Amino acid sequence: MNLSRFREDGKAVIDFIADYLESIESRPVLSRVEPGEIRAKLPAHAPEQAEPFGDVLRDVEEIILPGLTHWQHPSFFAYFPANSSPPSILGELLSAGLGVQGMLWATSPACTELETHLLDWLVELLALPERFRSSSTGGGVIQDTASSATLCALLAARERATGFAVNERGVNAPGLPQLVAYTSTQAHSSVEKAMTIAGLGRAQLQTIAVDESFRMRPDGLAHAIASDQAAGRVPFFVSATVGTTSTGAIDPLPAIGAICARHGIWLHVDAAHLGSAALCPEFRAIHDGLEHADSYCFNPHKWMLVNFDCDCFWVADRSALIRTLSVLPEYLRNQATESGAVIDYRDWHIPLGRRFRALKLWFVLRSYGARGLREHIRRHVAFANDFAERVAGDDRFVLAAPPALGLVCFRDRRGDDATEALMTRLNESGALYLTHTRLNGQFVLRLSVGGTWTEARHVAEAWERIGA
Ligand code: PLP
Repeated sequence: MNLSRFREDGKAVIDFIADYLESIESRPVLSRVEPGEIRAKLPAHAPEQAEPFGDVLRDVEEIILPGLTHWQHPSFFAYFPANSSPPSILGELLSAGLGVQGMLWATSPACTELETHLLDWLVELLALPERFRSSSTGGGVIQDTASSATLCALLAARERATGFAVNERGVNAPGLPQLVAYTSTQAHSSVEKAMTIAGLGRAQLQTIAVDESFRMRPDGLAHAIASDQAAGRVPFFVSATVGTTSTGAIDPLPAIGAICARHGIWLHVDAAHLGSAALCPEFRAIHDGLEHADSYCFNPHKWMLVNFDCDCFWVADRSALIRTLSVLPEYLRNQATESGAVIDYRDWHIPLGRRFRALKLWFVLRSYGARGLREHIRRHVAFANDFAERVAGDDRFVLAAPPALGLVCFRDRRGDDATEALMTRLNESGALYLTHTRLNGQFVLRLSVGGTWTEARHVAEAWERIGA
């Protein structure tokens, strides 16, 4: 493809995306294909001859789109949203177009400096603790996902707790303490995954019971820590959640933070979905107690109009993270690194290479402004509150958890079978898509409001179908 073809085909792709988004409501939200159906439509072998780009785009329309679940459909209420938006799409495109690789400051200074600067902007916009700023002891970095951020936090915590011995001598080295991590029974599975990747294993993760609102119980945490210490184990890491995946519950950070501070335990706060709400001053209480955190992450790729992948991760003490993840082979040595005057983000995450993700974040922040982003969040919170009121006012249904910002958990009063049948009926209709969880053993539906294109009428229609 030469550059004049690229201009033409590129415009066709932008038109394709705009047409797709414009007509998305005419498609069933949840893909209806059977396993293997898409592969059966693809040739058995890669093409030997070059093909016209028009043919490729036609196949996207005819083969790929029917096999998609339309995450940008305004009636997508499943999981948590994966926002996208026109400026974010353009930022992503530009990132690919510039094709830079920002592993070192020297490999593209703008890639690093824009990222550092935006993460400092976000400290201010979300009113995060000052020590997360790059001008303080901490700093922020863009990761692909919250799962990676949690893993990095856990690795840094492991090294801090062992005097950086595991990195040197391995998890099985003699004399190392038996480390224990803690999270609630409602925490995201990425914490358990991080434990397995870190070589600590699930067995060294204690899951702490939650209260009636699905928040971690600080007394349970304190008790577990005390009994582990009494048995000679070393508590080193607590992962608290602001906005749990099942119900949007917020763990009590002030009490958890005080416990962690007392025992010198690394506190990581995972606000993957809910963190965006702190753009609005009236919702900032979700972060009360965050000043105790050693690390924190949230996903603009969930609810802040930035397309996947974009997780923002901050640490209060960047030196622990860098010391944990830094390996400097000769071929990466350069003057800027040696000078100590720059950030090399390769030391802040798992891979070496890194995409220019800050561009899409920058485009979104500038295109909507903080005011536009707040408006986006407030609308969804209002739609979800309205939906929760309807559920609460209908005898046939029960709210299964306290309504959270943008998320409503409910069930059919008649029990699991009826609730599950309702979910199947709704999802098979193609008109909307929602998913479930289990709370206290009961099957519960989650309506998560946060789509870029979701309006009040889509939530109202969802309720009409639920009640029909
Ligand atoms: N943490 C929480 C609370 C989540 O809800 C999710 C996903 O929904 C994750 C972590 C994982 O997010 P990611 O896909 O960015 O790893």
